Amino acid sequence: MNYTLEDKMTSLRAVSIAVILYIVGYALKLSVLLFEILTPIITSDIFRLIAAGVSGTALSTGLLIISLNDSNKLTPYAIALMDGFMLLMVFDVFNAPSLNDAIKSGFISFFMAFIGYQLITVFAAKFEQSKSEMKRTISEINLECTQKQLVLDNLKQVLSEIEQITCEYCEKEYKSVNALNAHKGRCKNKPTSVN
Ligand SMILES: [Zn+2]
Repeated sequence: MNYTLEDKMTSLRAVSIAVILYIVGYALKLSVLLFEILTPIITSDIFRLIAAGVSGTALSTGLLIISLNDSNKLTPYAIALMDGFMLLMVFDVFNAPSLNDAIKSGFISFFMAFIGYQLITVFAAKFEQSKSEMKRTISEINLECTQKQLVLDNLKQVLSEIEQITCEYCEKEYKSVNALNAHKGRCKNKPTSVN
């Protein structure tokens, strides 16, 4: 089966790669923000960097898991909104030197949050689609297996019917059990008994 570029672009793998990149970006943004916030609490740069990096990665991975598994329809919106506000803080929009800069950073923040939200939504839909395709394939295989088993059972039955009317000595097939029994008495291949 040949996959076209379009197939590859719309595949679950392509979406997964985009989601991973998004989560890495999310983790970096969160880490930068945490690094700033932790400045008065952790004075050592290296420890602050580790704390911010680990927390940022854990939180962003957690957000992805929650947005994929939580059945509450409002969760993805809440996450997108938080992402938008986080970006506003990362870009320091509230201390922007001019209104023009604030609008630019604000637009980029909510644009990135919107794309992230859409990406997670598409990923969740693709994942569900892939799961249901897998289930369908499994049920098709099960059905085929049941049909083959049925054919096998029929063949076994035919074989046992043939065995019932076949002479065990000369292996000749007769039309009925009675005809076989009549033949068996005088079958030339029948071994002669010793006693
Ligand atoms: Zn015979």
